[in-house]
Amino acid sequence: MSNGNGRFTGKTAIITGAGSGIGRAAAVKLAREGANVALFDLKDERTKEAERELNAIREGCARAFDVDTSNPERVEKAVLEAVEIFGGIDIVFANAGINGVLAPIDEMKLEDWQKTLDINLNGTFLTIKYTIPHLKKRGQGSIIITSSVNGTREFTGFGMIAYSTTKAGQVGFAKMAALELAKFKIRVNVICPGAISTNIDQSTDVEGNIEKIAIPIEYPEGDQPLADGPGKPEEVADLVAFLASDESRHITGSQIFIDGAESLLR
Ligand code: NAD
Repeated sequence: MSNGNGRFTGKTAIITGAGSGIGRAAAVKLAREGANVALFDLKDERTKEAERELNAIREGCARAFDVDTSNPERVEKAVLEAVEIFGGIDIVFANAGINGVLAPIDEMKLEDWQKTLDINLNGTFLTIKYTIPHLKKRGQGSIIITSSVNGTREFTGFGMIAYSTTKAGQVGFAKMAALELAKFKIRVNVICPGAISTNIDQSTDVEGNIEKIAIPIEYPEGDQPLADGPGKPEEVADLVAFLASDESRHITGSQIFIDGAESLLR
């Protein structure tokens, strides 16, 4: 059990995609350091399990909300409920995302393209849109957005045209938002992970003929310069906690790669 005396004591975080992977690791990290956490995810067994895990750290610190981040009504309702339960919002981690359908552009169906944009990009917009008024009430806040190396420093994820477009869009959004919100002392930063061991592959559908567009790339010494394999969600959670904390108080509008230099090779 935590004594509730940490960097985030008295603070509340909303985390989207909190039922798995990076979002869940960030939720655990912030809760261990004293935060109350609203877990926004498509409420399934994994999210309820995350809620139980957090409440075992500190009873009452977590609540799971059944939210599809691409649905404005559900995001707005859950934000209001979280504010009612926890009394306000200090930290927003807009992290939910899917890989979605991978296909060559001419084979990509509009509805598949649209679904990835709806969840990854509209979901980021809606999460931030509906939480900003509550951060303003606090007189400060920290927003962190999960983009990716894909679409920002790596362009070799053949078929990931929709995904990479959303990840590039999130970087532009974060920088615009950082400027817009600076006068309210609300910071906005965007993180770009490389390969991290999570359940993201479950949200991947290869539909088209990717081989038709793939260009073979070979790295004689492998592709993970710093670590011997993909990163861990907990490593990303440490960065999220830093950006959520006062230790990063002069950092806003920054794009931070967390990939062990993997993307510099590509
Ligand atoms: P994950 O699949 O383990 O977790 C993503 C979570 O988001 C899941 O719990 C899922 O239910 C939730 N989610 C999906 N659609 C949702 C929706 N419409 N509404 C609410 N919740 C929804 O994957 P992860 O790797 O932890 O992904 C988190 C973020 O990290 C994503 O934005 C992803 O693009 C990004 N990312 C991941 C990697 C990686 O290698 N894992 C690399 C770069 C960026």
